[in-house]
Amino acid sequence: MEPGEKKKEKEEEKMVMTVLHGAVIITMDDQNRVFKDGGLVIEHDTIKAIGHSSQILAQFSHLAHHLVDLTGHILLPGLINTHVHTSQQLGRGIADDVDLMTWLHDRIWPYESNMTEHDSYISTLLCGIELIHSGVTCFAEAGGQHVSGMARAISLLGMRACLAESIMDSGNGLPSSWAARTTHDCLQSQKDNYNKYHNTADGRIRVWFGIRQIMNSSQQLLLETRDAAAQLRTGIHMHVAEIPYENQLVMDVHKVNHGTVTYLEKIDFLQKNLLAAHSVWLHDNEISLFSRAGVKVSHCPASAMRMLGFAPVREMLGAGICVSLGTDGAPSNNRMSIVDEMYLASLINKGREVYNSGNTDPTALPAETILRMATANGAKSVLWDDEIGSLAVGKKADIVVVNPWSWPMVPVHDWVSNIVYCMRTENVVSVMCNGLWIMKDKKIMNVDEEEVILNAKEASAELVKRAGITLPTRMNVI
Ligand SMILES: [Zn+2]
Repeated sequence: MEPGEKKKEKEEEKMVMTVLHGAVIITMDDQNRVFKDGGLVIEHDTIKAIGHSSQILAQFSHLAHHLVDLTGHILLPGLINTHVHTSQQLGRGIADDVDLMTWLHDRIWPYESNMTEHDSYISTLLCGIELIHSGVTCFAEAGGQHVSGMARAISLLGMRACLAESIMDSGNGLPSSWAARTTHDCLQSQKDNYNKYHNTADGRIRVWFGIRQIMNSSQQLLLETRDAAAQLRTGIHMHVAEIPYENQLVMDVHKVNHGTVTYLEKIDFLQKNLLAAHSVWLHDNEISLFSRAGVKVSHCPASAMRMLGFAPVREMLGAGICVSLGTDGAPSNNRMSIVDEMYLASLINKGREVYNSGNTDPTALPAETILRMATANGAKSVLWDDEIGSLAVGKKADIVVVNPWSWPMVPVHDWVSNIVYCMRTENVVSVMCNGLWIMKDKKIMNVDEEEVILNAKEASAELVKRAGITLPTRMNVI
């Protein structure tokens, strides 16, 4: 092929136009527009036009290479899961119904510290498949093992992600391979990852800095991470204020009058590019500190209910904090469905009002707030809202197609509440990311789902054996 021909082919590829029409389109744009019979035009990887089907068809149908009739379906912006442990997917079920210290020291640390790069690749593929089935096009990795393995998997799956390494430079009881890492090693390895993988896979992969949690971070690590992230203009993902013990330890060691957030403010660590996962044990003043600094929060309802407690989500939203939704990892949630998290976030925060006022409050966190948390707020949380989080002209074509015409969602009187309160993962039929279908009619497009499941079964069995994890027998197994 002549060089000129290649260029021509590239230009033609850029010009490919797809028109979706006939659908209810919940845009989540600044005006909260919902088109009852909407059309959307995608050129290459970008949304070129959106409007009523009749107008869109009149203007673009003769130019379209693909005309897709989605009558009866609902279109949403790609959902964004802002706290995911891709490395933990092979560890689903290894730490159910155990206390937090057993969870961490006897199950998760041995498991994660024994992961190979290949394990990370398989684990991320398996995790990605589950995320895509639940309509997720973009996620924030909470900090895991082998960013190279994660990047290979994400590149192949066709999704977007902000990847981060699990980083700890201090603390008791760490596996020996982790304890040997210096603060310098921790920072250098992340800078290397940034140089290798940031902005790769057609711009779908970004690399962030990770801080696993305060109890495993020196002050030097925190400050140098803050400065390195600012210099590279990227984000920091950290578990914050997860349990009362964490706050108490911070008070004792750092002589502050409350926990992690108070200490982080004191050392000037709170910034706009910090994504604080969980943030359950904050007092009122700390909510103000987050709000003033522009810190983003990932609320993980299922995992919080299992191990952490009730996060002050209504108060944080009320203070203007950008709160989004996350699943956390498979060993602390088991289900990696953001669809389930939307439902749980609404119910848990309505029920939590009992503690505030003595009564439940069915008006707390209504459906449109929850949907915003999973879309526009998710995009802001991962510092990507200039390109994703809503269906609007000029944004990347990250789109979820929902078929509501099966038993979980019928009848549909109110599209927005039906999405939050009724939709199941099974209602998500097709998913587009960056202008390409990554799931079509429930079929994952870029990897063989059956093969990944087989590989994952094998890799997880070997990994658990290598890590020396044995689970006690439940009930009377004969
Ligand atoms: Zn986590």
